[in-house]
Amino acid sequence: MKVKCPVCGKETEYSPANPYRPFCSEVCRTADLGSWASDEYVIRGEPGSAMNLSPEEYEAAAEHTREVAAKKERSRK
Ligand SMILES: [Zn+2]
Repeated sequence: MKVKCPVCGKETEYSPANPYRPFCSEVCRTADLGSWASDEYVIRGEPGSAMNLSPEEYEAAAEHTREVAAKKERSRK
């Protein structure tokens, strides 16, 4: 299935063929994991479990990530 990269919004393949899923590239994955860590976003109390999400869980996490990014964007101004 295709999902939108939570960092840049680009459509990317959510499958074992994409080692950076749910992100489009290593760059986005690194950027996003950094923001998740700094915002203490923990899924089911399992740090580092973001790569094992179901599509539904991924969507919820991606939504949260977008909200956090939007908040940071606002507070920067
Ligand atoms: Zn991306």
